[in-house]
Amino acid sequence: MLDIQKIRSDFPILSQKVNGKSLVYFDNGATSQKPQVVIDAISNYYQEINANIHRGVHTLSQLATDAYEVSRGKIQNHINAKFPHEVLFTSGTTFGINLVANGFAAILKPGDEVLVSALEHHSNIVPWQMLCEKTGATLKVIPMNENGELIMEEYDKLLSPKTKIVTVNHISNALGTINPIQYMIDKAHEVGAAILIDGAQAVPHLKPDVQALDCDFYVFSGHKMCVKIILI
Ligand SMILES: *Cc1c(COP(=O)(O)O)cnc(C)c1O
Repeated sequence: MLDIQKIRSDFPILSQKVNGKSLVYFDNGATSQKPQVVIDAISNYYQEINANIHRGVHTLSQLATDAYEVSRGKIQNHINAKFPHEVLFTSGTTFGINLVANGFAAILKPGDEVLVSALEHHSNIVPWQMLCEKTGATLKVIPMNENGELIMEEYDKLLSPKTKIVTVNHISNALGTINPIQYMIDKAHEVGAAILIDGAQAVPHLKPDVQALDCDFYVFSGHKMCVKIILI
């Protein structure tokens, strides 16, 4: 049985009253609260080992580097990435998507096409609009039906050798739709396009296997998974 009081007791922020009532927090899709173990880990880090990682040879730097790499390994295991160096820490999904989109600025040219779905978070629209403005590439939108599902026949028609990158969320933050990303990844690769999956709503609930999926980029937010934002 789910012991809700025990779970609540892990989150010190929930012990307060708001408007005279015990706080109930439902906005985990935007950011999750942090349990005591996470708050302690962050606090212990600053009290005991804070130092510059990968650059110092002194004791604290080595301890901080080890802690940093242990975290990277845990994330690698969670998404089944092949190598630890495939995991890059950013402040969140928006930063990750912008990093990828900026990388494509050096590659795209007028006539190239970028496909986004009609079901995206703002963070997965604006960076691609800016990329297309900058490079002269064309942004095309994969439409959805009245059930909030992306229309795969339309996706198939939009894909062509002009498509350089496709971007789609794994699970929609607005509707909860789980998109057929395996199909979309395979189809993008058939035309030689790269594909980015916005997993911000998926990774807190599923264990995506990025090797099996074979996507080029999979982006998500630690701060929606009860852990702290980690800045590079
Ligand atoms: C929350 C969210 C984002 C933005 O994530 P941040 O970490 O806040 O930048 C992007 N896409 C989806 C689907 C989201 O749910």
